[in-house]
Amino acid sequence: MNTQQILKQYFGHREYRPGQEAVINNVLDKKDTLVIMPTGGGKSLCYQLPALALPGITIVVSPLISLMKDQVDILRGYGVSAAYLNSSQSSQERSEVEDYARSGKIKLLYVAPERFAADGFVHFLNSLNISLFAVDEAHCISEWGHEFRPEYRQLKILRSWFPTIPIIALTATATAKVREDIVKNLHLNFPLVHISSFNRPNLLYRVEPKKKSKEKILSLIQKHKDESVIIYSFSRNDTEDLALFLKHNGITAAAYHGGMEHERRTRVQEQFRRDEVQVIVATIAFGMGIDKPDVRLVIHESLPKSLEGYFQETGRAGRDGLPAECVLFFSAGDAQGHRYFIDRLANEGERQNASQKLQECLAYGHSGVCRRKLLLSYFGEAYEPNNCELCDNCLEPRESFEASELALKVLSAVVKTGQRFGVTHLCNVLLGKQSDRMEELGHDKLTVFGICKDLKAEYLKNIVQQLVTKKLLAQTESEYPTIYITTEGVHFLKNHTLLQLLVPITRKKKQDEVTIQNEYDEELFEKLRALRSEIAIARNVPAYVIFGNKTLEEMARFYPQTESSLRKISGVGDMKLKEFGARFLAEILSYTQEKNLPEIPYAETVTVNYTGATHDQTRELVTQKLPLETIAKTRGLALNTVVSHIEKLKSTHAELDIDYLKTDHTQEIIEAFKTLNTLQLTPVKNFFSDAYTYEELRIARLFVITGK
Ligand code: ADP
Ligand code: MG
Ligand code: ZN
Repeated sequence: MNTQQILKQYFGHREYRPGQEAVINNVLDKKDTLVIMPTGGGKSLCYQLPALALPGITIVVSPLISLMKDQVDILRGYGVSAAYLNSSQSSQERSEVEDYARSGKIKLLYVAPERFAADGFVHFLNSLNISLFAVDEAHCISEWGHEFRPEYRQLKILRSWFPTIPIIALTATATAKVREDIVKNLHLNFPLVHISSFNRPNLLYRVEPKKKSKEKILSLIQKHKDESVIIYSFSRNDTEDLALFLKHNGITAAAYHGGMEHERRTRVQEQFRRDEVQVIVATIAFGMGIDKPDVRLVIHESLPKSLEGYFQETGRAGRDGLPAECVLFFSAGDAQGHRYFIDRLANEGERQNASQKLQECLAYGHSGVCRRKLLLSYFGEAYEPNNCELCDNCLEPRESFEASELALKVLSAVVKTGQRFGVTHLCNVLLGKQSDRMEELGHDKLTVFGICKDLKAEYLKNIVQQLVTKKLLAQTESEYPTIYITTEGVHFLKNHTLLQLLVPITRKKKQDEVTIQNEYDEELFEKLRALRSEIAIARNVPAYVIFGNKTLEEMARFYPQTESSLRKISGVGDMKLKEFGARFLAEILSYTQEKNLPEIPYAETVTVNYTGATHDQTRELVTQKLPLETIAKTRGLALNTVVSHIEKLKSTHAELDIDYLKTDHTQEIIEAFKTLNTLQLTPVKNFFSDAYTYEELRIARLFVITGK
């Protein structure tokens, strides 16, 4: 069987994701490989597919016991024989697995790193016919990484024991230092280093001011009804508080942190995986054990420690490639809590490092630049497009204004109060807030007292922070940081140059409405989802082990009615077809027969692509007022893909003029949507007894949605 066949037959994927093929070919050539791909990028396939193509067994080192079981469950679901060895098993169970491995019947064996320290483990490995070593989460080997695990150091011996067996190391952490450490410690031999783009085109990034955040979080979760959500909080107490608040409001939520007993944590994790708990409220430290593909929303309730961490944590959203949302509730005041811990770090270098990382998080929160661009630049990756179309700053660019006059006032206040006070006092001076302390300090007698009294405190604080980001002011690194003026600031005071700052805004609701249009039949989707849970419960596995959401969505979009068309659906491999095909087909058939719906031919070119460039090209042609068919031809895309682009474009560029797409029928179809009081396509399609194509309906629907 060639690799393409394995890809479809076992894993059910039609095509490789970027980078996978090159990596897999390198592994099959028996060469070492280092793979750096973002979370959700599809690293597992890079060793799982070769494991099937190679003759012997592949040993996978993986740090998390809970994830191991999950991986093995998933593989077994594909019809691949896999097993694991870790400390959760009794020695009896372990020796059974070992015997089984020796019999040559296992293709993939997952092993916890500490196994390598156990007596006789080398001996055991020596008794196997090993084709490949895969070291997952390889950054754990490096002290420079954020998750150093001493046990990983043992893996040095892989090369000395098995000099001829290729090694593939995989991680989502890309810093150069960590990379070097991995190569050095595993003794990788001139490895192919594959670094994927870290862009996650399906993730929407937003920053919200941290005000009334609990209520906002609740409404965000309500918007993501029945969808998995992870919330990161600062402290254990915060997680408990928030989980309780959500529970009181009818949401199934659970806290998850290091202070909880191991068993309870495992239970929460399991409930989350099985969709029995919708929301997990975690401390950052304990996020790593959660590896669910269909998390639709990740919220940071508090400032992250570093952008690297933030990127990893938000990376847990949308691993299945479907749209997901990442929201940071931002308040510069949150830095205080972090500073408390930073101050207590013993090592000066560490202190500086942590402090700088914190500063970068603050800059991210305040910035008006594309969030995607900022995050990627942190990983040394240049993001070229001017507008990513999927972050708050691109969707709703912030205005800037000429702020030199205001900046001069703020800087003088810093100087006149002796550069000894924090943001709050400074703003109180500028706002002219009387208090005993003010009088005591004599600051109410200063000329700067009250010179900004027309502004709001919130607004002014934001300005001060922007001046810090612009490096005209700086903040001491202590628990109660004070503001002082930099050399650049002094220069500015003297020379009165022009200065642009962003207009601080308290964001309104608008962005909550940014959602991506569903392109599938929701009614059928719900039915398939119910069937999936029924099977999952009966088999005692998480739902996504049966089929991922993307697979169900495709079924509900193309209405496959025969085995061969079902097999074309992404995520349907041979094993899945054999095990579940009949039941899902029956469900689809009963639905489509009742409604008299035809199968929709699966166009090979249909790939949902959220990157800006392709949409930009379509937009260009729409502004030229070209007919849909011409756009499709020019772009070499299926008609329904072009319509998807237009739907997406309308959600981000409301001003885009599509009136010219109206036909003689459009008005009639619009009326039907309104009469039937629905946005679903099927009822309207039936209403006209199939007289109109889905594309015509979808275009008409856009006018209903935009209210024109
Ligand atoms: P990572 O380990 O890099 O975080 P995973 O290996 O867990 O990511 O893969 C994330 C998701 O992507 C999984 O649901 C997996 O099935 C899916 N996936 C991987 N490769 C492909 C592919 N070639 N086509 C479609 N889906 C894929
Ligand atoms: Mg992984
Ligand atoms: Zn952007």
